[in-house]
Amino acid sequence: MSSTVSPPATATTVVLTGTPVVPGAAVGPVVRPMGAVRVPSDTGAAVPEGEREAEKARFRAAAHLVAERLTARAAAATGVSAEVLSTTAGIARDRALQTTAEQRIDEGRPAEVAAVQAAQQFMDMFSALGGLMAERVPDVRDVRDRIVAELTGQGEPGVPAPEVPSVLLADDLAPADTAGLDPARILGLATRLGGTTSHTAIIARQLGLPCVVGVGGLDDVPVGATVLIDGEQGTVTVNPAPEQARSRVEDARLAAEALAGYEGPGRTRDGHVVQVLANVQDGAGARAAVAAHAEGVGLFRTELAFLGRAQEPSVEEQAAGYAEVLAAFPGRKVVVRTLDAGSDKPLAFATPPDEANPALGVRGLRVARRDPGLLERQLDAIAEAAARTGSTPWVMAPMVATVPEAAGFAAAVRSRGLVPGVMIEVPSAALHAERLLAHVDFLSIGTNDLSQYALAADRLSADLAELTDPWQPALLELVALTAAAGRRTGKPVGVCGEAAADPMLGCVLVGLGISSLSCATSAVARVGARLATVDLATCERAAEAALATDDPHAARAAARAVLEG
Ligand code: PEP
Ligand code: MG
Repeated sequence: MSSTVSPPATATTVVLTGTPVVPGAAVGPVVRPMGAVRVPSDTGAAVPEGEREAEKARFRAAAHLVAERLTARAAAATGVSAEVLSTTAGIARDRALQTTAEQRIDEGRPAEVAAVQAAQQFMDMFSALGGLMAERVPDVRDVRDRIVAELTGQGEPGVPAPEVPSVLLADDLAPADTAGLDPARILGLATRLGGTTSHTAIIARQLGLPCVVGVGGLDDVPVGATVLIDGEQGTVTVNPAPEQARSRVEDARLAAEALAGYEGPGRTRDGHVVQVLANVQDGAGARAAVAAHAEGVGLFRTELAFLGRAQEPSVEEQAAGYAEVLAAFPGRKVVVRTLDAGSDKPLAFATPPDEANPALGVRGLRVARRDPGLLERQLDAIAEAAARTGSTPWVMAPMVATVPEAAGFAAAVRSRGLVPGVMIEVPSAALHAERLLAHVDFLSIGTNDLSQYALAADRLSADLAELTDPWQPALLELVALTAAAGRRTGKPVGVCGEAAADPMLGCVLVGLGISSLSCATSAVARVGARLATVDLATCERAAEAALATDDPHAARAAARAVLEG
């Protein structure tokens, strides 16, 4: 995170920089989320016993209203936004939360204090569980604030609905706030916190709202000031020159229009073939990817369907789910990843609950060390899905660190007539890419994890978002190393981390020798269309320029100078 003052277009123009997340440009007056809800503390004053039933009814009514409002917004939304809003509504409706709050009221607490104490109990529990459960904490806090606001007559928290189309600046946003944004009123957003994989980023991407996160100096920008958000360059320009702002927004609009014409297949302007694939998690996602002209699936995250499960799903249930994805792309490339359980995606039936350091613990392929049968049964299910759909999926393992791990996995996959590969997410695997390719038929680089392990920075840490920026030159060096191994052996090396969703970085990755890019479905057209504007030699020069820099901002600038020069 950094802030710089650029040569001013007018005396008061200030350019703040952050991490670009969703391309596009928007200009407008600044709005900010409503002030924080005042959360009551426990004064010790007890509600008389005779009034406690009424107090409980007051709590239930407030929670009900909050749940209904969120449900209505979910019904008006689609995709990830609808899911986030429904999940938050579900928390407001949760029986356990209600029972806990009612117990507190029985002990004499007023409804608003009971709401705070009950929510705190759940937040503590989720924090202690860690991983994805810990990610629920902001949702519970959001629900708490909404219920307290209702009970105490404070205005509904969250994002205002301005009359004049505006840009939203915030410290961070609750997932439900981002999901509820109306793109007709909020044209773009920037936050002080948050990384490229945060909820804000994911939802902004789905809504197509220009978005920059991790912006230093954002606190000082006053409400009402005119701001230009540039989601491609990662800048927030305060008081931009009006002509410059208009032309930047117009350029971005024209670029977006060009995208609408993208139908694949992916190739550079001079015809160099690069598959542009989608990352999916289920059959519905795969069908949406077909509609977006993805050429296939570069990453099927199988674990996401089983996150809340206590028991391992049967081979039959798994086979049915996998077959849905394979059936969406008959005769096309589909890369199925075996369960990437652990760390931020714990699966109760697969991962140890009490690891001190789960990101470095038993996750991904390492789960098979404790329970080889789990992997065997999943491979059986993938083979069954392949037989039912008449396809030959590629199958890859996450979190591979050594050659023997790759060799063992490859043998198990080949014995079922499937095509084996491994993900490159650990620096040791990048260093030994060529040796891995002696055993497997392809590699797929997971830049999200590779950056966290190469830079020793938690990928979920907002404070360290700059370290896990996919433009980090050291990360690009590891990608280059891996791609070179692919070229030497004549085997494909793709990228399936968030890096592949950045159109300009996509060109750089191709310049490094990457043969396929797999990204969120919403980014497929943008990535494919951008690639079609440049030739391979230019991509290679952009890659060289980016590799020669020392930080992600300089890498972006160097690549842009080549690609747009
Ligand atoms: C990655 O690490 O880049 C990746 C694609 O895997 P996931 O994001 O699911 O960990
Ligand atoms: Mg990963």
